[in-house]
Amino acid sequence: MKEQRVCVLGSTGSIGVNTLDVIARHPDTLSVYALSAHSRIEQLAAQAAATGAKVVIVPTDQARSRFRNAWPGSLPLPEIRVGAQALADTAADPQVTTVMAAIVGAAGLPSALAAARAGKRVLLANKEALVAAGGLFMRTVRESGAELLPIDSEHNAIFQCMPQSGGAHAPATPAKGVRRLLLTASGGPFRSTALDQLPDVTPDQACAHPNWSMGRKISVDSATMLNKGLEVIEAHWLFAMPVNQIQVVVHPQSMVHSMVEYEDGSILAQLGQPDMRTPIAYGLGFPERIASGVGLLALTALGRLDFEEPDFARFPCLRLSFDALETGQAACVALNAANEIAVDCFLKQQIRYTEIARVIEACLDRMAGLPATSLDSLDEVLALDAHSRHIASELCLLKA
Ligand code: NDP
Repeated sequence: MKEQRVCVLGSTGSIGVNTLDVIARHPDTLSVYALSAHSRIEQLAAQAAATGAKVVIVPTDQARSRFRNAWPGSLPLPEIRVGAQALADTAADPQVTTVMAAIVGAAGLPSALAAARAGKRVLLANKEALVAAGGLFMRTVRESGAELLPIDSEHNAIFQCMPQSGGAHAPATPAKGVRRLLLTASGGPFRSTALDQLPDVTPDQACAHPNWSMGRKISVDSATMLNKGLEVIEAHWLFAMPVNQIQVVVHPQSMVHSMVEYEDGSILAQLGQPDMRTPIAYGLGFPERIASGVGLLALTALGRLDFEEPDFARFPCLRLSFDALETGQAACVALNAANEIAVDCFLKQQIRYTEIARVIEACLDRMAGLPATSLDSLDEVLALDAHSRHIASELCLLKA
């Protein structure tokens, strides 16, 4: 494996922590150059001290003071950069070879795009970047020659099952011989909850995923299956695959991470423990396989693998996502923005779980009346994202 200096954006989150775990297993080739956090500043200081990071990025001057106060005096202080622009600048820093884009939500888009524009190896966990700006992001990767490695476990699985002739670059057309992508979904914590109980489920119940340990926003997205919807849109962009060639299959055991179906009838699948260190290690090591710390999958102990059709009545967010992808980029921006607002309100117990889908649908309806925009630039995407958030916030207030 070639030497890499890694910038971990969102290092205090679930993906960030797992990334640092994998990096620590390969001290000869992998080192941490930069780390970023948003609210967990003391955790960031501990991470920077443990990894010897040269740079940290925090959101405000107040966070800079908190970082300084938390820093162990015996060690040389890393350079502290402040603000959203510093995230993008550090992602493009010449010292950085590899960027883990693991900030949650559309807030991660500008820095992920900056990494792509600067031609880095981009390990993309932040799916919202592709949902909001897939066309722009993939064009940027193609033009800059960046390496794009999907980290979302499903897309990483598909990437592993694809013909590898394309390397880690952004395809403009579907891979030859591929008939369909089969995205697996666990069905989340409410796969068999009685429908009349769903309005009363709590944030903690929604975040208690049966198989994966993740951040709270993506955990709620998994419960509503909006997460799978975002992944359908993500797969469309990553693999240049038309929406009618992407199928969602519910697979409660979460051991088959996704599959690629070929024209000759073969289906290739990638299996493994539900542990994000496997796709992270794959992205860091590519094209080599490196140790991740993940245990082996005991197939005989597992015994069986189940597959089911998704239930669109139980998971209206999945249907809304397919509809948004068919409608176009603006609808995808609105879907993602409205979801972020609605999930935040649900986590703060301001709206009920079942209102999440209603807020998204109402926001999409309102946005459908607006004149079309080209969405060729980051500014246009961010303006539409802000407008969608405004509408979704108003809708949440009405439901509160
Ligand atoms: P977490 O909520 O655990 O972590 C999010 C990270 O982003 C934290 O470091 C957080 O900082 C930082 N952050 C939050 N808001 C902002 C902001 N406005 N500006 C800058 N930084 C911010 O999320 P996950 O690690 O679970 O997910 C990260 C991304 O990866 C998401 O896009 C998710 O969809 C995707 N993903 C996650 C998977 C998982 O298993 N967790 C699987 C596949 C994809 P702080 O903690 O300091 O506030």
